[in-house]
Amino acid sequence: MRSFWERGSWLTFDVAIVGGGIIGISTAIECATRHPEWRVLLLERNLLPTGASTRNAGFACVGSLSEIASDIDLMGRDTALDLVRRRLQGLQLLHERCDENDIGYSEDGASEIFITDHSALARIDEVNAILKPLFGRDVFAERRDLITEYGVSDSVHTMIHTPFEGTLHSGKLLSVLWSMAARLGVHIRTGATVVSTDELNGGVELIVRTSHEDVTVIARQVVIATNAMIPSLANSAKLPEIVPGRGQVLITKPLTNLALKGSFHADEGFYYFRPIEDRVLIGGGRNLDFNGEQTASLDTTERIQSSLEHMLRTVVLPHHSEVEIDLRWAGTMAFTTTKQPYVDFVTPSTIVAFGCNGMGVALSSEVARECAGLLDR
Ligand SMILES: Cc1cc2nc3c(=O)[nH]c(=O)nc-3n(C[C@H](O)[C@H](O)[C@H](O)COP(=O)(O)OP(=O)(O)OC[C@H]3O[C@@H](n4cnc5c(N)ncnc54)[C@H](O)[C@@H]3O)c2cc1C
Repeated sequence: MRSFWERGSWLTFDVAIVGGGIIGISTAIECATRHPEWRVLLLERNLLPTGASTRNAGFACVGSLSEIASDIDLMGRDTALDLVRRRLQGLQLLHERCDENDIGYSEDGASEIFITDHSALARIDEVNAILKPLFGRDVFAERRDLITEYGVSDSVHTMIHTPFEGTLHSGKLLSVLWSMAARLGVHIRTGATVVSTDELNGGVELIVRTSHEDVTVIARQVVIATNAMIPSLANSAKLPEIVPGRGQVLITKPLTNLALKGSFHADEGFYYFRPIEDRVLIGGGRNLDFNGEQTASLDTTERIQSSLEHMLRTVVLPHHSEVEIDLRWAGTMAFTTTKQPYVDFVTPSTIVAFGCNGMGVALSSEVARECAGLLDR
């Protein structure tokens, strides 16, 4: 049995947030900022966030030409424009919250590599015209000169450049956000896996598994931000379909004479790469095995890793003879069928927040703000 003191001070909260990734921690910060009087709890199953947020590529992006062209076809121009607006607002919030130096942010633009001709290239004027109200000028321009300047393969058909994209250090970003939440008084518990959430009269009972025991926590409201793992906790008919997607990455050992600058997208966003310090990070390749990559497993596979290495050696660094791989890893994304993030109540006191569709760096602050807004009501 719990003591009176334990129950009152350690196990009862106004809001419990499950998942310490970028959405969970940003939601905790929003709640603690808006309601300093609230007792806010963040529960993370591991010692550190271990899903996507500390395993991604660190692109602070709003979408490449081919991605936005495809979004316009999927959801119509107004909804596609609105999604870009939400990504921009999310990035703006992140900038207001974090010092650029602390999160390793730099804004060197982004380039989309077209290995062969592509229908999106003929739509550059259309996409620029749609985005103009948000950016005030053309977002995308063809820059074949950058193929030589950045030292990528001469066989690349063309390059489309945008100045409106940055990169950051994902590990530093999450670390800064966790520290900020702690300073705001958020109770952060690691090694705390939530195994069930049950609606009570006017609240939610969470069973939290630690290495030692199962602990019952009571919260007035709960936010589940466990990304592709949400269905195991939020078993509700209201929950939309969540498609898990493993993202695999590798990073080289330090290289000399790196000419790459900014971030790079290729093959409709299925490949992405960037320099970081004197190394190159490359990720993607999910389109080689959509079914196999529809998993929350954090293992890497030979098939995807060798395709990343092939792309690295032949397209990205064709003039570097000594490229050695330092680390390989994987993370999990959560995709929605609409490509829109989902933030809503699935039971009277439980919200789920997910579905950044591979753009959580930009979208998560905005998603967290929407989430905290719902909790306010
Ligand atoms: C390889 C890769 C590259 C990417 N590159 C980019 C990029 O460059 N730019 C970009 O914007 N986005 C990128 N993304 C997407 C971005 O990382 C995600 O959109 C974002 O991190 C999702 O954040 P989240 O908080 O929803 O999920 P997560 O970061 O996955 O957080 C969920 C957390 O919940 C915890 N958890 C799970 N179950 C439980 C439980 N039962 N109890 C307690 N805790 C639990 C997990 O340990 C995890 O820490 C990439 C993703 C991957 C995988």
